[in-house]
Amino acid sequence: DKANIGVTGLAVMGRNLARNLARNGQRVAVHNRHRERTDELINRFGNEGNFLATGSLRELVDTLERPRRLVIMVKAGDPTDAVIDELLPMLDTGDILVDAGNANFADTRRREAALADRGVHFVGAGVSGGEEGALHGPSIMPGGSPEAYRELEPILRSIAANVDGTPCVTHVGTDGAGHFVKMVHNGIEYADMQLIAETYDLLRRVLGLGPGEIAETFRRFNTGRLNSYLIEITAEVLGHVDSRTSLPFVDVVLDQAEQKGTGRWTVQNALELASPVTGIAEAVFARSISGQPRLREEASGLPGPSTEPVVDDPERFVDDVERALYASKIIAYAQGFDQIQAGSETYEWDIDLGAIATIWRGGCIIRAEFLDRIRAAYDQTSGRAGLLADDDFREALGEAQDSWRRVVAIATAAGVPVPGISTSLAYYDTVRAQRLPAALIQGQRDYFGAHTYRRTDLDGVFHTEWSVDRSEHEA
Ligand code: NDP
Repeated sequence: DKANIGVTGLAVMGRNLARNLARNGQRVAVHNRHRERTDELINRFGNEGNFLATGSLRELVDTLERPRRLVIMVKAGDPTDAVIDELLPMLDTGDILVDAGNANFADTRRREAALADRGVHFVGAGVSGGEEGALHGPSIMPGGSPEAYRELEPILRSIAANVDGTPCVTHVGTDGAGHFVKMVHNGIEYADMQLIAETYDLLRRVLGLGPGEIAETFRRFNTGRLNSYLIEITAEVLGHVDSRTSLPFVDVVLDQAEQKGTGRWTVQNALELASPVTGIAEAVFARSISGQPRLREEASGLPGPSTEPVVDDPERFVDDVERALYASKIIAYAQGFDQIQAGSETYEWDIDLGAIATIWRGGCIIRAEFLDRIRAAYDQTSGRAGLLADDDFREALGEAQDSWRRVVAIATAAGVPVPGISTSLAYYDTVRAQRLPAALIQGQRDYFGAHTYRRTDLDGVFHTEWSVDRSEHEA
């Protein structure tokens, strides 16, 4: 009686994933570098299902039926390589190694290629939903070979979140595709959180609402098209009162946002792909600025606006803010999905964007009704055109844009920073413009560096003799 799947790495994520597997009828062999975590899992949760505790990777491997299915859930980076290196000599052709940690997709590509040479399937699987998701049903984004996915599919479907009968798991693409998509998911999460935070800041500083009142506003937003896990937890956090001080919790938390790196990876990769994820980039930088006390200290005496803007209709302002948030969110998601499309083309993954929207509807941090609308959009466009080509989103943006502009104007006049909302509006106005000042940039480049330009009225590439007689010739 061997186990049909194994898990090594039993910190909070691995433990909960193992419990989820066992609760769904799998016979799960478990292992952790330090034995204590294994024992704790068995002692506390051993009665939840069929676990086999093992004391070494050797024992773990020997306990698994073949082809072996083995999930690694250890600290991302070097620890993952260490575990793979130790496991590899013990594995046989056809065995499947799943890395469910938050690996960088470039590492996953490297590992997949190395293991493929040895006949072992390596599946980099993005897992989103935090510890609760791992236990009750995450959104799972597996890469790797189609053969490996066929072997894993029934098990993954049984433990994934489920929305309207559809499990939140799909084969994203080969090698690092799964971890790539998980990375962009996290980038979008950064953008979404930043937009919500700006909305809170506006309601507080422009309208003077308290955290409790803003919690109520978000609860109301959550009954409409903004309905999402992130809006829901925002209302919970804002409504929470600190027991030590009896102050709103949000007022006693140090205002320096931390980050573990996936947002930064998203932006780094977007720069490589020339994919303009301005919403995600502003969100990452906003966290960076918040976490630089010296910079903030140096700048703290700088003057703000000499007159405060007057909002004579607070209810209309709240409506405007809701529209600005929704429109900005469309832009941030459109940019993120465009990055996935760019990655898919560059790394030859053939990712189905509608399928990605589908598996993000449940389990993960950005789960929302909104993802259903994105899925519907990709159903219409066959996945190649971006979300801004979709009629419903175009209509929503058009309907929101006056509100969006009023919000950015009032925020600017009030001196309240809204980098996420304003960059989204700038993107909207940039991509819809008939003419861009990029023509002037081309002129400047040609002037100082003879970098050449193309013309609107003639084919070919041209250069102007700026320092001689300003004559033009084909380059
Ligand atoms: P941690 O990232 O804190 O990692 C701790 C685990 O890694 C322990 O089991 C530890 O073993 C093991 N480990 C560390 N170094 C080594 C090594 N050199 N060799 C063998 N084992 C090692 O655990 P989490 O559960 O928080 O996360 C696991 C993975 O899931 C990470 O990749 C994380 O990024 C990812 N993830 C986490 C989420 C979260 O919400 N926490 C959400 C989604 C993904 P030991 O007990 O012996 O020290």
